[in-house]
Amino acid sequence: MSNQNEETTKKEHSGVLVVVERKAGEPTNGSLQLTGKGKELAEQLGVKLIAVILGDDESALKTNAESLIRHSADEVYMIVNPGLAEYHTLPYTKAITQFITTKKPEIVLFNASTTGRDLAPRIAARLETGLTADCTNLLIEDYVDPRTKKEYENVLFQVRPAFGGDVLATIVSPEHFPQMATVRQDVFDTPEADHEKTGLIEKFEVNLDDSDFLLVTEEKIEYKKKTVDLKGAKVIVSGGRGLGKDPEKGFELLHELAEALGGTVGASRGAADKEWIDRGHQVGQTGQTVKPEIYIAFGISGAIQHLAGMQGSRTIIAINKDPNAPIFKYADYGIVGDAFDVLPKMIEMAKSK
Ligand SMILES: Cc1cc2nc3c(=O)[nH]c(=O)nc-3n(C[C@H](O)[C@H](O)[C@H](O)COP(=O)(O)OP(=O)(O)OC[C@H]3O[C@@H](n4cnc5c(N)ncnc54)[C@H](O)[C@@H]3O)c2cc1C
Repeated sequence: MSNQNEETTKKEHSGVLVVVERKAGEPTNGSLQLTGKGKELAEQLGVKLIAVILGDDESALKTNAESLIRHSADEVYMIVNPGLAEYHTLPYTKAITQFITTKKPEIVLFNASTTGRDLAPRIAARLETGLTADCTNLLIEDYVDPRTKKEYENVLFQVRPAFGGDVLATIVSPEHFPQMATVRQDVFDTPEADHEKTGLIEKFEVNLDDSDFLLVTEEKIEYKKKTVDLKGAKVIVSGGRGLGKDPEKGFELLHELAEALGGTVGASRGAADKEWIDRGHQVGQTGQTVKPEIYIAFGISGAIQHLAGMQGSRTIIAINKDPNAPIFKYADYGIVGDAFDVLPKMIEMAKSK
């Protein structure tokens, strides 16, 4: 870390910057969510919300920039270069670092996407500043260092789950600028577009040469995520890590029960992380929020992030072999037992109706 004087350094920096990602030629929803939150922070600080966007096609970037202005940005800078058509670590890192070094924002936000997680630590290291990964909330507050009693005004409080989600840690970087964070998708709302809003759109020139383009994309294989609309389902039969004894069989039985009840299959993040089922089925804080008539949870413990997505269900039925599983506190009906014993019985009952 550098030994820059904090007062001088903070004064030199102004503005909240969002590094915008594009997918299929459009800013991602995650980036729009960041502009919404970024604007809130910028207003609290009395500074501008800046967005930077990279690509090879100036007119497409200009259209994106206009959309970003409508979605809260005050200034949008376009970095245009034929080598920036696709995301590549080295040229993107260099270009964004040059941008930040010139514009000196006090806060820089990235999405906690594959791209953001690759880029942000490299840029933070080049700028000799800190980085908090995977934030779920951001706030501006005054801060007193408990050890030195030194007071800092308007510091970015970066909140993220720690120790497997059991606690929320608040991280500050009051002496190193910019304050940088990656932010999880879907924790903030997408701002409404304001069609009357205007702002500055400009090109920003960077120095890139052949040595920055060492990697070439020869083939791109798109992975299409299956999206399952759980929101309209009347019955959801969900499975969690408790199906780990034989996940393939477990989810096959869940599908059979869901079909017999005219419902849809859901899952906990625990099950989706293990790739037992596509993430499009995930229910919870970072999955879908559902309100079916009946929600049946097999082998799901009832973590707060799962409950956040299904607590509004009219009737909750939980099947868990641990009588102390937290989900029983929220269930209308509970069965203490092995999911693999209960599932065939419920299928038989559902089919006999
Ligand atoms: C920021 C953040 C966002 C998150 N978002 C989500 C989200 O959107 N959705 C989500 O679900 N989670 C989310 N999580 C993860 C969440 O904290 C839990 O880790 C996750 O929900 C656990 O999944 P689980 O209940 O399937 O697994 P576990 O917690 O491991 O529970 C498995 C349960 O199965 C029971 N069991 C074991 N064997 C059997 C059996 N044979 N029969 C019956 N029961 C059995 C066990 O007693 C246990 O209660 C998030 C976490 C963080 C930090």
